Amino acid sequence: MGTSWSSSAESEQNNERRMKKQKLLSKKTFGHHEVEGYNGDDTDIQNHVESCRKNPGHANFIPITRFTQTDLPEDLRDDTLYELIKAISDITVRIRVTKVSPGRPQFFPNTEDPYPFSGTNVKMRLGSGEIDVYKFIKGWGYNSQGRSSNFFDKDKAIEATYKACPCEKCGQSDKPKEVWWEIFVYTAAHVVFDEIEAINTTCTLLYDNKGRPETKALNKFSVSYVSVEYDKCELKHVTCDVSLGDKLYKMSRRCCDLWEEVRPKHCRSQSKFMFLVSHPHGGIKQLSLGEWRENEKVKKLDKNFVLTKLTYTAGTCPGSSGAHVYCLGFRGGHLHGGALEPNINYSCVLYTYKTKSQHRRYI
Ligand SMILES: [Zn+2]
Ligand SMILES: [Zn+2]
Repeated sequence: MGTSWSSSAESEQNNERRMKKQKLLSKKTFGHHEVEGYNGDDTDIQNHVESCRKNPGHANFIPITRFTQTDLPEDLRDDTLYELIKAISDITVRIRVTKVSPGRPQFFPNTEDPYPFSGTNVKMRLGSGEIDVYKFIKGWGYNSQGRSSNFFDKDKAIEATYKACPCEKCGQSDKPKEVWWEIFVYTAAHVVFDEIEAINTTCTLLYDNKGRPETKALNKFSVSYVSVEYDKCELKHVTCDVSLGDKLYKMSRRCCDLWEEVRPKHCRSQSKFMFLVSHPHGGIKQLSLGEWRENEKVKKLDKNFVLTKLTYTAGTCPGSSGAHVYCLGFRGGHLHGGALEPNINYSCVLYTYKTKSQHRRYI
């Protein structure tokens, strides 16, 4: 009896697995996006958190201020990983958009899946994202690794086409600043679609706790890159405010430095551990932990990178779209895209870094 039950359960599981794989492999199927939309105002956010239907009670989220090492799986409890997760939380932002672009298509590219908020007039939408900061001195840039060369092309220096700060204030000044910071915000294209939406976007930093005094809102964004097909958007904000620029640049550097310590320990491991930090429903920042399930190749980018789509189990809710998805076992740049089933979520199409050992395992 026991054997026949377990084998039928097993075959059911296999079937389910195959179906999930097929669903993902088609690459044309989208689940439910996870942007929160309100027609009310900010006071509605708490009501939406409390009446959540996807994860009632939010038991699978850890408010970042209450995160301790004991929340991590036993074999992963170490100071560096713990500090890394906190540092990643510091560069995670809440994204609030108050305009729906008339340019939103009716469907996701090459599908019949409705494109979020297309043709609607929703007053306020909330998603998540992450910042990356570059520092510029007289036009020469330094990325968050402190390097002056491009991430994808190591021989190419980071150089702006302008030699002084391009902010509005400096544009009107006889003495524009020679040092400035460019703050990039990475999110999904279905969160911020184009320039019209970018100028109506506010990113809130350090929204970890209600009333936290350090909370900082940034606006005046432009779009530096967008791909509707891969569902990725990069926004840019420029500042020559030394205290803000320095603070955010240091936060961004700290993440890179901690990754340098954490990555060698885990990148060749079989670890399925993943995590993401997001703002469910636009409320305070929450950490969710889980496992990644599949990392499906969509397209080869070059000899070092492939574009893939991930599925994973960490908890997400409306408001989580655009959050960076981190996996310990391999290096990638995936952003949260939506939910396929109650406990399986998926990413947008983004890169996975290939190493020889990973090549065989994931692609
Ligand atoms: Zn929720
Ligand atoms: Zn300036």
